[in-house]
Amino acid sequence: MMKHNFNAGPSKLPIDVMRAVSAACLDFENSGLSLMEMSHRAKNFQPVVDEAVQLFRELLSIPEGYSVLFLGGGASLEFCMVPYNFLEHKAAYLNTGVWAKKAMAEAKLFGETVEVASSADTTYNYIPKGYTVPSDADYFHVTTNNTIYGTELHRDLDSPVPMIADMSSDIFSRPVDVSKYNCIYGGAQKNLSMAGVTFVIVKDDALGKVTRPIPTMLDYRTHVKGGSMFNTPPTVPIYCALQTLRWIKREGGVEEMQRRAEAKAALLYGEIERNKLFRPTVLNPDDRSYMNICFVMSEEYKELEAGFLSFATERGMVGVKGHRSVGGFRASCYNAVTIDDVKALVECMQEFERQH
Ligand SMILES: *Cc1c(COP(=O)(O)O)cnc(C)c1O
Repeated sequence: MMKHNFNAGPSKLPIDVMRAVSAACLDFENSGLSLMEMSHRAKNFQPVVDEAVQLFRELLSIPEGYSVLFLGGGASLEFCMVPYNFLEHKAAYLNTGVWAKKAMAEAKLFGETVEVASSADTTYNYIPKGYTVPSDADYFHVTTNNTIYGTELHRDLDSPVPMIADMSSDIFSRPVDVSKYNCIYGGAQKNLSMAGVTFVIVKDDALGKVTRPIPTMLDYRTHVKGGSMFNTPPTVPIYCALQTLRWIKREGGVEEMQRRAEAKAALLYGEIERNKLFRPTVLNPDDRSYMNICFVMSEEYKELEAGFLSFATERGMVGVKGHRSVGGFRASCYNAVTIDDVKALVECMQEFERQH
């Protein structure tokens, strides 16, 4: 049976992307070698990195003066690389979830770290507003999409200091004003590639401003200078990212991804609100994530939770169980998830409602 993949990450990829990566893993561009057994310095691999960087620039309209890097270590390593490279006197963090909190915890190891606001009081089910970012901070760190709680910043904020963003789970789902950021990073396994590669967009002249010594591998300048080839980069995940970037371009770019995300989210949130069995966990529609749509059973139907999960699973839904810290359900609707996948889930919810 055809599965509808709502996994939170690693997550659904377009079938064309998986076909291209599979073919390259057997015979890379008729070279007689698998992509897995080739040198990252091979003449025919360099164009993969070059084109992936070029497509990043094109699809996100990245201004001059920024570098695009492909690294290892996941978004979690960036939590430490960011303060290592950017925190001299003070950093400001918006605490919108576990990932934001983990990023902030690393910053505290390097210097004064201000939590400008937090939504921890209500299991992070809203995005705080009306706070002040200290104007003497080196940077203001935000998590643009909170994968676990289903909240999202749909627009780039205004900040008195340059921003740094974890965009692990919403990169390429909307246009971004990159000029507002000194650094944008994320694990690729949500919206860009298979697991194994981290993307970093970094403003070149924001580097080299801290006085502490930085270990070579943790210094962004090493990877800017080395063109992501200082050490062996994750070659297959980079190739997979390239295929996804080509797919995004063919499909109409980030504006089209945004249009689709809005359509999928409108359909699913609409059903969650209409259906008597369910309710959304994020109450302010402005704060609701288009990428990770979280909902629970209505109070009077609480005992049906396990029942709905197995009902949905039998009908081919995958990955709709909510994160253990929130409970209920989470349908991750990344770029590769189609409106038909969402329609299948909505039909499932309607059928379950008719039965109860
Ligand atoms: C998944 C996720 C992470 C963790 O990424 P890793 O690549 O596993 O380190 C960090 N931040 C956000 C917003 C995420 O969704």
